[in-house]
Amino acid sequence: MSVPPRRTKILATLGPATDAPGVLDALLRAGVNAVRLNFSHGDPSAQVARAQAVREAAQRLGIEVGILADLPGPKIRIEKFANDKVRLKAGDRFTLVANADAPPGDETQVGVSYLGLPGDVAPGDVLLLDDGVVQLQVDAVDGERIVTTVLNDSTLSNRKGLNKQGGGLSLGALTEHDKSLIAVAAQIGVDFIAVSFCRNAQDMHDARAVARAHGCDAALVSKIERAEAIENLAEIVEASDVVMVARGDLGVEIGDAELPGLQKKIIRESLAQNRVVITATQMLQSMVDSPIPTRAEVLDVANAVIDGTDAVMLSQETAAGSFPVKAVEAMARICAGAERHFAHDTDFEKAQRGLERADQAIAMATMFLTEHIGVRAIVAMTESGGTPRYLSRFRSNAPIYAFARHDGARRRMALMRDVFPMGYDSRGQTPREAARGSVRTLVEAGLLSPGERVVFTSGEHMETHGATNTLRLLQVGADGRAEGLGEL
Ligand code: PGA
Ligand code: MN
Repeated sequence: MSVPPRRTKILATLGPATDAPGVLDALLRAGVNAVRLNFSHGDPSAQVARAQAVREAAQRLGIEVGILADLPGPKIRIEKFANDKVRLKAGDRFTLVANADAPPGDETQVGVSYLGLPGDVAPGDVLLLDDGVVQLQVDAVDGERIVTTVLNDSTLSNRKGLNKQGGGLSLGALTEHDKSLIAVAAQIGVDFIAVSFCRNAQDMHDARAVARAHGCDAALVSKIERAEAIENLAEIVEASDVVMVARGDLGVEIGDAELPGLQKKIIRESLAQNRVVITATQMLQSMVDSPIPTRAEVLDVANAVIDGTDAVMLSQETAAGSFPVKAVEAMARICAGAERHFAHDTDFEKAQRGLERADQAIAMATMFLTEHIGVRAIVAMTESGGTPRYLSRFRSNAPIYAFARHDGARRRMALMRDVFPMGYDSRGQTPREAARGSVRTLVEAGLLSPGERVVFTSGEHMETHGATNTLRLLQVGADGRAEGLGEL
């Protein structure tokens, strides 16, 4: 009887390193569950081609792979230098010029793409460029010119990002450019759209509205990477389908000392609201150049698993690293190891009280049975992925096989921990027939054996969203065939 080896999901960023022949297939074989198209880099046609390659590879390998489009958001960047980069010395005066026609930069000044920046900063503020490598303290704001003092010796090169320590830049999350990229994402038919630098629930509602207007039913991912997003965490989580702990920019804005606490807080809030959560950035950073992770990275990935994350993400490691496949293999191995040693005891104390929906109640009852009578697996017939999502919010030792007829629903489940999406068309079948059919599929795949018990959930009318209202306790017959199924 084989058990799925890993329950935590892996999201891998595509880029030049994965465009090389054979790499994408190897990545998927190594266990990638979803890929990230980073719309901050490259032109949209490159992303369309990558998405196409992913769909073809997934089809070839017979697996479900989600595609996530990550919007650039209002990342503020400096413009270019006449000689591509400059050396800055602590104590130097350096001016940022918020003007679209600023001349190419030099040792004394450079242009900035965000014209509202002078209105958002005040003397004493610290600006962090290139993820904090370059620190500038604001001395004065004079019209379009922000005069600063360099705080550390550093090199600054073209188009580096700019954050304000402690947050407080007033830019909205969804730029016109983002809106045009949502149209591209819709055309690709992506499964997830990630909103960078979201500030509040409204930013998520706006992105969702644009996506839906393009006929795109992707799940919406909020990237928590701004100080304001922490203040509005509960409402952002509620407005999201998926939440990302975006440790890169968050660490810059809010300070690295706050990161461990915030990671746990964001994961806890997401799970409490029945949302899916991704932990991202620098998880195996050293593997950009090295075939093995550092011990600290191993512990970081494992700790995210123990925190309860649904998925872990690779960025540079796969997009531009020298060992993209090894990075995925390491991720898979570390997740599986952490799961083995830290099996979660399902904690019904934390369970939501006063359930409002029948499918939530069924999910809760299912997990109670799973915990108390020992079942091998949970088998859920699902239309949209709703019931598996509720099921998977309770961590248990039983895998959740989620049978769905819609490709999109299966791919959106690709990031849920413990959930294994399977294709199945139950139209025209009674729930009992669907139970037989789905269990037979699992027996044939070697995932269930005679004598093992499963909990089966479905609705009376299976082709309806949110209609799950039935739970059956079943045992696989001695002959291993579905006909042998008997209710206990
Ligand atoms: P990015 O987002 O890689 O798009 O910046 C993730 C993060 O900031 O951690
Ligand atoms: Mn970011």
